[in-house]
Amino acid sequence: MISIRSLSTLAFSLTLAACSAKDKKTAVMETRTEVPAEPAGKVVKTDAEWKKHLTPEQYHILRESGTERPNGEVYREFKHQGKGSYHCAGCNALLFSSDHKFDSGCGWPSFYDPAKAENVVLKEDNSMGRARTEVTCAKCGGHLGHVFKGEGYGTPTDQRYCINGGGLAYVPAKEVPQEK
Ligand SMILES: [Zn+2]
Repeated sequence: MISIRSLSTLAFSLTLAACSAKDKKTAVMETRTEVPAEPAGKVVKTDAEWKKHLTPEQYHILRESGTERPNGEVYREFKHQGKGSYHCAGCNALLFSSDHKFDSGCGWPSFYDPAKAENVVLKEDNSMGRARTEVTCAKCGGHLGHVFKGEGYGTPTDQRYCINGGGLAYVPAKEVPQEK
């Protein structure tokens, strides 16, 4: 039998859960002010830990190989971002840099090269009925997107890392080097 007291406690917890989910849920790319420390080694967490650590959108992309909506808020934001670095929102590993970003018009953040090649792992992906190359984070195994070759974008590598911005954390470059 459920008492009134436990019902009200339940209602209260549900309200709290709804609030924190709302606060955490965001359709924009995570932005940080400082470059995070690189993970020392592989980052291994349980599903429950990842769920706690990530927003629902980040969890869906990184841990469930989800794909964000093309031409959404994240992409609009990406296009307006200046110089900076892009890290894994799951484990902080440096993945991409604004130096290699280009406007492919595909609706997702595009880079022609990773910033730190050892931090990305490429895997064959035959889902969705076609052969693609999946891009994952080498440190935590998070799904980032796919890489395509030979599309003729005229970039130095002729590759397009088509990446879900929602799985990244952007750190704007400091405009003036601090000398103190
Ligand atoms: Zn990672």
